[in-house]
Amino acid sequence: MERKQDRAPIPADWTYASAPESREIVELRERYGHFVGGEWLEPQETYATIDPASEEPLAEVGEATEAEVQLAVEAAREAFANGWSALPGSERAKYLFRIARILQERSREFAVLESLNGGKPIRESRDVDLPLAAAHFFYYAGWADKLEYAFPNRKPKPLGVAGQVIPWNFPLLMLAWKIAPALAAGNTVVLKPAETTPLSALHFCDVLRQAELPPGVVNIVTGDGRTGAAIVKSDVEKVAFTGSTEVGKAIQRELAGTGKKLTLELGGKAANVIFDDAALDQAVEGIVNGIYFNQGHVCCAGSRLLVQESVYEDVIDKLKRRLTTLRVGDPLDKNTDVGAINSRQQLEKIQELVASGEEEGASIYQPPCRLPEKGYWFVPTVFTDVAQSYRIAQEEIFGPVLSVLTFRTPDEAVEKANNTPYGLSAGVWTEKGSRILSMTQRLRAGVIWANTYNRFDPSSPFGGYKESGFGREGGLHGLEPYLDFE
Ligand code: NDP
Repeated sequence: MERKQDRAPIPADWTYASAPESREIVELRERYGHFVGGEWLEPQETYATIDPASEEPLAEVGEATEAEVQLAVEAAREAFANGWSALPGSERAKYLFRIARILQERSREFAVLESLNGGKPIRESRDVDLPLAAAHFFYYAGWADKLEYAFPNRKPKPLGVAGQVIPWNFPLLMLAWKIAPALAAGNTVVLKPAETTPLSALHFCDVLRQAELPPGVVNIVTGDGRTGAAIVKSDVEKVAFTGSTEVGKAIQRELAGTGKKLTLELGGKAANVIFDDAALDQAVEGIVNGIYFNQGHVCCAGSRLLVQESVYEDVIDKLKRRLTTLRVGDPLDKNTDVGAINSRQQLEKIQELVASGEEEGASIYQPPCRLPEKGYWFVPTVFTDVAQSYRIAQEEIFGPVLSVLTFRTPDEAVEKANNTPYGLSAGVWTEKGSRILSMTQRLRAGVIWANTYNRFDPSSPFGGYKESGFGREGGLHGLEPYLDFE
């Protein structure tokens, strides 16, 4: 251990023996088609999906055309009309409970696959993505036979076919957020995973087979944005989208006047506000979890840190020291804290925004860190001396990059925190309960954490204001967009 002035000792060396999770547990096919009507449809076009940590191809997957999307929508419609929508809720619940249990049983396998195709640390896919995905199926299974009680005197009924388009940051978890409430409400679905992370959704089709879900209730088509656009245009009753604000806006324009229901869960630029009376060591852990969790590929990431001036130096000092202990590298190593960036395109976007931060005058800090030679990587980064007008304080970077601003009074904190086109999430760190209550009233964000960050629960609604979208996922609020009422 080294001792630096009178501060706490910092470790001189953090050498761990590597502890890689075996990838043998996942059996991948060489080539996947589209899962339509309970069968694999041979795709007309394919592309290779890769491991972003090594750039090695993992499998060939289909690139669905409009005609293939059409087949999937027809299969979903047939399944809706031929039994699924008329099934008693208690029967639908059985399938959802089965899916939840199978996901739990096969969680190690899915965790490895999620890290392999997406680049996220196995510790996170094992401890966060998989337990939460199963929890969502359990939670909505519980509501399937209680819709009349959930919405008393409103006679809830399913909509029909839901088209669902999801992003690459939490591929299986986003699938669960979309499919579980849709099925509980009696709808059938056509879902498209993101182009860079299709494998867990395709692997999930085997869970559906194991659960003996009737054919056509869930259809999975893969492809790029064109496939997503084809789903949006197709003959579905409802579109649910999670992704960038830009694409969300395009979808909203496309659907205007069609009568199709829409929910949008878009980007964010959350403020994580640290008051001087906060437990600073805990707050620093919350800051790290807020922005470096999942390489910062998180829509609700605490990417703008607002620190009260009186504790600014202390917090930055602790934060920088904590950053030196983060381990960046092999996503399958159980010691890894920060894994690979999801794609070359995303890496370039992060690099471009970080360069803009330096050009505009912010001070950059990156801990010493050796990155693997192959794959897509970015060192955890902190920017100080950031002005509110800088791009790094305004735009969603979606990477492991934190922008630090300061404030003196609660009013100034609120004003700065709300100074963003987004409104998805926020964090407040203070020992005063009254201040938590007053801040949460004034912060314009759909989800606000107090003395913690990035906590999720299926019973708690999640969603945003302003350019972060509309509609909620999770809880009863997440069921409502999948129902019609008399
Ligand atoms: P996109 O919004 O493009 O991707 C989200 C999903 O939408 C993907 O499945 C994508 O397919 C699909 N898609 C793309 N274009 C269309 C379209 N015209 N109609 C329907 N569906 C479409 O996000 P990106 O992957 O391009 O990421 C860009 C930025 O978006 C990130 O840097 C980040 O800032 C933000 N983002 C926010 C997310 C969030 O959770 N709020 C999640 C992901 C990204 P495909 O994968 O093939 O592009």
